[in-house]
Amino acid sequence: MKKEFVVIGLGRFGGSIVKELVELGADVMAIDISAERVDEYASIATQAVTADTTDESALRSLGIRNFDHVVVAIGENIQASILTTLMLKEIGVERITVKAQSDYHAKVLQKIGADQVVHPERDMGIRIANNLLSNNILDYLELSDEYSIVEIRANEMLAGYTLIDLDIRAKYGVNIVAIKRGNQILVSPQAIEKIQLDDVLIVIGSDLDIHQFEKKALH
Ligand code: ATP
Repeated sequence: MKKEFVVIGLGRFGGSIVKELVELGADVMAIDISAERVDEYASIATQAVTADTTDESALRSLGIRNFDHVVVAIGENIQASILTTLMLKEIGVERITVKAQSDYHAKVLQKIGADQVVHPERDMGIRIANNLLSNNILDYLELSDEYSIVEIRANEMLAGYTLIDLDIRAKYGVNIVAIKRGNQILVSPQAIEKIQLDDVLIVIGSDLDIHQFEKKALH
């Protein structure tokens, strides 16, 4: 069955979610308080509706409860974002993802029961900063305040050695959970796997340990 989504707030963030979901074959109802924004999405989304989502009766009349997942992409107007989320919870929407503008905003959203809180600007900033600091770090995903998963490109310091040779887990406390090699992905690579130049290592560990690994093993 086709997945059905609602995206509320058609700024750059919400708008790009609508476009990508449609591209991936999902049904999307796009909502914004601005008729101008809604017009932009009339030919893209399955349905585009002008509504103020802080108005409970407007939300109910749209049949929001029947959708699989609602994304609240209202950023600037924190009050509208919180009220909308609260309303969606009350209506009984099963899954709610909300864009947070600040840590304080995120805390409130979690308290009122948002299933997923995302910080696109902050997360992209962290990713880019990590990438800027090291050419070997290709991507970065924060798991918690302390733990992350990173993609590290294997350079000549690692190439030709097996995971046993390098003894990465014992030496650095990080784990290589997969290796991307061209189009291939080796999940849970064996200890005897030989690393090749330009392999992309998917590494999980504490930020401190990952930093040590990147600093010592690749230079
Ligand atoms: P982005 O950073 O994603 O580009 P933006 O800065 O353009 O977003 P935001 O203020 O974050 O805009 O709001 C995103 C959208 O949410 C806007 O198009 C705005 O009209 C819409 N919006 C704001 N309040 C409501 C509301 N109460 N009901 C529905 N839509 C709303």
